[in-house]
This record gives sequence, structure tokens and C-alpha cells, in this order.
Amino acid sequence: MNQKAVLPGTTANGQQTTLGVMGGGQLGRMFVQAAQRMGYFTAVLDPDPASPAGLISHFHIQADYLDEQALAQMMQRCAAISTEFENVPSGAMFTLGAHRPVAPSAQCLAIAQDRIREKAHFKTCGVPTAPYAVIKTPEQLDAIDDTLLPGILKTAQLGYDGKGQVRVQERADLAAAWAQLKSVPCVLERQLELLCECSVIVARGWDGAAVTYPVQRNVHVDGILAMTEVFDGNLPSALAEQARHAACAIAHELEYVGILCVEFFVIADPAHADGSLVVNEIAPRPHNSGHYTMDACDYSQFDLQVYTLAGLPLPAPRQHSPAVMLNLLGDLWFSHPGVAAGADAPAKTPDWLAVLALPGVRLHLYGKLRASRGRKMGHLTITGDTVQQVQATAASAAELLGIRLA
Ligand code: ADP
Ligand code: MG
Repeated sequence: MNQKAVLPGTTANGQQTTLGVMGGGQLGRMFVQAAQRMGYFTAVLDPDPASPAGLISHFHIQADYLDEQALAQMMQRCAAISTEFENVPSGAMFTLGAHRPVAPSAQCLAIAQDRIREKAHFKTCGVPTAPYAVIKTPEQLDAIDDTLLPGILKTAQLGYDGKGQVRVQERADLAAAWAQLKSVPCVLERQLELLCECSVIVARGWDGAAVTYPVQRNVHVDGILAMTEVFDGNLPSALAEQARHAACAIAHELEYVGILCVEFFVIADPAHADGSLVVNEIAPRPHNSGHYTMDACDYSQFDLQVYTLAGLPLPAPRQHSPAVMLNLLGDLWFSHPGVAAGADAPAKTPDWLAVLALPGVRLHLYGKLRASRGRKMGHLTITGDTVQQVQATAASAAELLGIRLA
């Protein structure tokens, strides 16, 4: 599809061109910042009066995502609309998409919202996944192949940051695990031994042209992203090339428009010394593992979210520095000497002064008013001249703040 470009600034009838985003979390906030830098006005739909994006947007429509009046306001205000989280009801996107350019499309969101459909899509694209089975009935649970155990039972919908998942050691544990997940539709995946995890961000325009960022190497702790490292040699180059190629195939087959992140596992493979790649899941939006692009690339993932949505000529992004990204979870506001582990103690301020004294560190806080454990409050990007320097600084920053990397 070709979409007429939506240009920033004042329109012929004296109005400011406005871009909209469904969802007001940190990803929406960084989209808003990128759009505003170029001169767009922004509108955010999010029910939370204190949403990070809503707090800084020109317009904040505070309502439920399916509220008809709110959707009508979004359409009235916005020349084009994107989203920042995959669980925006696809009905809302269908409504908006009937009247305004919406990227990604409701159809793409519906696939990304459902692990069963997502995995079927990977199969269509010829990209291998972990062995898995779909579980919707007790009979399907009984019929599980032994080779899927030990496995991870994951709800088909609404999981994130490791939530909606239960590890299952043996067959006898299956029924309890499914009951724990309220017996909703699930997939059971074999638990793989991971050599590492990586992800690729694709930006794809209305005309089908696509560009990718370098492959990100990711470290998760307790199912949540803790660190991303991006530099030449972070992965064997053939694997990295394969990951970029697979990510593009997945985006093209979806006729995806916007920013798509594809997450992969690298697993041991007797046939390949470097291991082989399996796709894990997709995120139909900018991704936590791409935050380093704001400081280490000439165009960030949020810039390209704006470019793709607005139908601007799509530049190939260039990374100009090795980078490490460290997530700042709410735990950092709690864990300090004298407070028992797990206690809900009064929050402290992490030692930003010490961290900001390190070379090449940039602090990004998302403007969340309350810290809680596991909540993504911000991130650090560390850039520098050499990989060694960047890694050493990241290690110092992690130690100063008490960030767990394993
Ligand atoms: P989420 O939607 O919560 O990100 P994921 O499916 O990506 O869910 O799982 C979160 C993390 O759990 C992964 O990044 C990985 O570290 C681990 N994990 C998930 N599935 C598997 C698997 N089949 N084998 C081994 N580890 C897994
Ligand atoms: Mg994931």
C-alpha cells in the first residue's frame, strides 16, 4: 500500500499535524519525544492520568481503549496513529484503521497478541521455533509428547516479562500448571538450553521497503530483559545475518508497517559450531532491546516509528558507537542496606551521581511516579570508543546500582 506522506508542521488550514499513539507507557513517551523533535504535535490515548507519554503529550485522551468517543477524538485530531503495546484491543485498531492510516495494522496486532497464531506465522515463513504443542483442551494436555518436557507452559495471550508462564518439569505437573494459568489456551514449549538470546528490529514502510538495526544480544534475568549489548562481534556474523534475514521475512510476510522486533534464541546444535537460531516471539512496536538506538545510532527506533507511520523516506540506520543498555527496574529504589529482601520499604533514590560520573553513560527515566519491583523505570545507555571501555563502564554502573545481570 502507498500512503501519502504526513508532513510535520502547520497544515494549509492552520492546524498542527498531529501523530497519535495508542498507549501511554514509556514506549509511547519515547515515540512522542521523537515526533515532537521533528515538529509534530502528538496525541496519546491511555486511561491512566499519570501515564509517562500522556504527561508530555500535547493531547492526552484519558479513556478506555474501546471508548467510542475517545476513538472518535483520536481520529479527529490525528493524521496517523501508531501503538506502543501489543495488547491494544484489535477492535480499537480496526475502528481507527477504517478512517486513518494505522501502523501496525489491526491484523498484525491480532497475530502478535496470540502465541498460537504467531507460531503458525513463523512456520509459514519457514523460520524454526522451539518444539511446541497447542493446548486448548484436557485431551490435548494428555496427548503431550514426552519430548516437550521439561517445558514452559505459556498463555497464548496477555503474557509479558515472563508473566503468564509456568515451568513444567514432568508430565505429572502439567495439570496443576495449566490450572494455575486458569486453563486458558496455552502453548507448551520445550525448555531449550540457550547459548544466548538476541533480537532484531525491523522498520518497514507502507511501500514495503524495510531496514534493520544491528542484531542485539540480550540478557534476561527472571524473564525480564536486564542488559542488551550491541557491537561488532557480539554474535557470530553468519548467525547475525541469518537473524536479520529471518526478521525481514517475518515482517514482509505480515505486510507489516512500522517497527517490529523479532526475538530469537541461539541453541546448541551439533551440526553448527556457532549454534542455530530459533525464533521466540515478535513485538509489534519498538522494543526494550532497541533503546540503545537513541544514543548509539543516527536514527533511533522511535525516529523510524515516526518515519514509517508518516510515510517519510526510510533511512538505513547507522550505529556510530558500541553500546550497552542496562534496564533500571523498580527494585533499585528498594534494595539498600538495612532493608530486608522482599520488604516493601520506603523508596530511596538510586545513586545517579555516582553513575553519571562514569564516561559515556546516559540516563533515561520514564517519568513514572511510583517504583515497584519488576517495573521498568528507566534505562542507561553506555557508549564509548571501544567495546572494552563500554563493557567495563557498564559493569561499574551495574555494580554501583546493584543491578543483577545473572
Ligand atoms: P515474554 O512475553 O514474557 O517476553 P518469552 O516467551 O519471551 O515471554 O519468555 C521470556 C524469557 O523466558 C525468554 O526471554 C527466555 O529467557 C525464557 N524462555 C522462554 N521460552 C523459553 C524456552 N522455550 N526455552 C528456554 N527459555 C525460554
Ligand atoms: Mg519475550
